[in-house]
Amino acid sequence: MGGTTDLAELTGAELADALAAGETTSVEATRACLDRIEALDGTLGSFLHVDAEGALAAAAEADERRSAASPASPLDGVPVAVKDLLCTVGQPTTAGSRILEGWVPPYDATVVTRLRRAGLPILGKTNLDEFAMGSSTEHSAYGPTRNPWDTERTPGGSGGGSAAAVAARLAPLAIGTDTGGSIRQPGALTGTVGVKPTYGGVSRYGIVAMASSLDQAGPVTRTVLDAALLHEVIGGHDPLDSTSIDAPVPPVVEAARRGDVAGLRIGVVKELGGEGFQSGVQARFEESVQLLTEAGATVVEVSCPSFAHALAAYYLVMPSEVSSNLARFDAMRYGLRVFPEGVDDPSAEQVMAATRDAGFGDEVKRRIILGTYALSSGYYDAYYGSAQKVRALVARDFGRAFEQADVLVSPTAPTTAFRMGEKLDDPLAMYLQDVATIPANLAGVPGLSLPAGLAEDGLPVGVQFLAPLQADDRLYNAAAALERLLLEKWGGPLLAPSATEEVSA
Ligand code: GLN
Repeated sequence: MGGTTDLAELTGAELADALAAGETTSVEATRACLDRIEALDGTLGSFLHVDAEGALAAAAEADERRSAASPASPLDGVPVAVKDLLCTVGQPTTAGSRILEGWVPPYDATVVTRLRRAGLPILGKTNLDEFAMGSSTEHSAYGPTRNPWDTERTPGGSGGGSAAAVAARLAPLAIGTDTGGSIRQPGALTGTVGVKPTYGGVSRYGIVAMASSLDQAGPVTRTVLDAALLHEVIGGHDPLDSTSIDAPVPPVVEAARRGDVAGLRIGVVKELGGEGFQSGVQARFEESVQLLTEAGATVVEVSCPSFAHALAAYYLVMPSEVSSNLARFDAMRYGLRVFPEGVDDPSAEQVMAATRDAGFGDEVKRRIILGTYALSSGYYDAYYGSAQKVRALVARDFGRAFEQADVLVSPTAPTTAFRMGEKLDDPLAMYLQDVATIPANLAGVPGLSLPAGLAEDGLPVGVQFLAPLQADDRLYNAAAALERLLLEKWGGPLLAPSATEEVSA
């Protein structure tokens, strides 16, 4: 094994193999990541907190297990980064918000517990739009994350930190969360693989809630196999989450290793693509479908008419749940407490108001107000009720589409990475980034974004796979097949330039 930078260039599976073969150690690999974070993250801003000491201690323990030939899991010793929406004992959890600044949770999210149990050293916590609300990571209270492909552009969001960290090889693996696209859209914009598992497939326990009926944590990686390996670690039933599915994790690793689409029926969703999608995005998508066809898949066009209303329904359901979930930030129980200026002996309500005013950013306030309005008596049926009906229609459309196709495909996002600031003053333009990802959250079905090449502007494009509930393995099978075909075509993976090294120099 060469220098430490080479170690950071390995995928999770490659590193796991090197660890199993005794060619390197977890301490060395973890140090390589920490060195790269140190060198590059001043520019990228993908981490909010780095836990060098904790990660190296966990790595040393992994090395002991490896030398005793008793690894805790196939990924034992492979470092991981975790979105700062997941509770971590010993590391702050801010959700990208001032209202949680300095808060250190007294418990781990189940996903974190499982990462630790499987022996993955946790490098730190990654940046995100405040409370995971956004599509560019510019709504973080702690400053934006930059896209390693072009540091003048956003990495997408809300999980831009995890995506940028993986794209820039600061971490081989990361965890994201996806309420409307926050794993998949940053995946598309940074050229990484991102998976939103079936709703209930990965525990939500200990994840700061945005919209509980939509939130789902999942893998952020550079390859389909890495995502499957990570999915297997974090997935599965958790009695601490009442919506957790009591069934085994679908055979995702086996599917990722198989990657065989011969005879597979692939449905191109008419409503997710075409008009409004950048030409280079559409072109890479069509080439991907062509490659899958040449590999033996049959392609059918499917129509999901209600998807046209999915974005509107999401922007009622999601804020409604947000307004309820964020009521817990009341300045009394934990987090920030601000006393109103010039008020002697303020009431609890006055402290609450001053704290929320100072602690929440504009986008969060916008959604709380929207949700409170949608749920208020007299408007409930017209707004929340109608949105729930659309949600049922979206699920019905998926059901019909999956009678005709085993997996569905679409571009993941309508554009490549956009410039920082470009959509910041135009919330609706920002919301449109998730037009193709939101239907899966509304219906609970799993989705995966795979890098599909570069558009005319030289920036990455993502292709999205969607599968029926609890058939996550189909995503991995189809994506692994396409990944292999693309790698053959390109002669190797398309990696974000390490030019960020020069930028930071
Ligand atoms: N960008 C979407 C939003 O702002 C999705 C967010 C997410 O998936 N967490 O709501």
